[in-house]
Amino acid sequence: MEGSSVSEKLFKVVVIGDPMVGKTSIVMRYVGKRFDPAYKITVGVEFFLKTLELDAKTVVRMQLWDLSGQDRFKNMSRVFYKAAMGALVVLDITNSLTLKSAAEWKQDLDSKLCLDNGRPVPAVLLANKCDLMETKGENVVSLLDKFCKDNNFLGWFKTSAKENINIDEAGSFLVKQMMLCD
Ligand code: GDP
Repeated sequence: MEGSSVSEKLFKVVVIGDPMVGKTSIVMRYVGKRFDPAYKITVGVEFFLKTLELDAKTVVRMQLWDLSGQDRFKNMSRVFYKAAMGALVVLDITNSLTLKSAAEWKQDLDSKLCLDNGRPVPAVLLANKCDLMETKGENVVSLLDKFCKDNNFLGWFKTSAKENINIDEAGSFLVKQMMLCD
């Protein structure tokens, strides 16, 4: 019967990282809203929905949990992480402190959440604001490769919410990884 064989998957994805790295801007960009430098939501958590048609038979809905106003603490409650199937950890490529924080965010995530089989949930690192990078950054590549290995990220992307660079690619990569774990 036509239509009956379409499978729908819903994945909760948490978006974490230090204040001002661009989490909200990335999520807004990803769900198809305009980049708005003036946009800031109220304190709390906001949800956005991204729908992807992977193929004729599979629709994926990602529920993106963007924390806002609570990102100063690098310590989220278990409720925030509960049942998440994936994570986007964001840093600001022009601010090395946010790289150090990304490791702490990842530890916070892994200490409060794992898959049913005990493995960490798929996590992808986003080195955001790459539009502000002055060099081509070959050393950034080896630094972030090592960082991902050391901190158990599946991969990383240089992104720009402002210029719309690599956000769709990073999202699709994460979806593939989540499908493998599903
Ligand atoms: P959040 O606190 O992590 O959610 O960060 P926001 O999304 O609120 O962004 C913080 C600031 O960085 C805002 O002024 C954004 O306009 C700016 N911003 C976010 N992403 C980018 C980017 O890719 N490039 C540049 N140049 N600025 C960005």
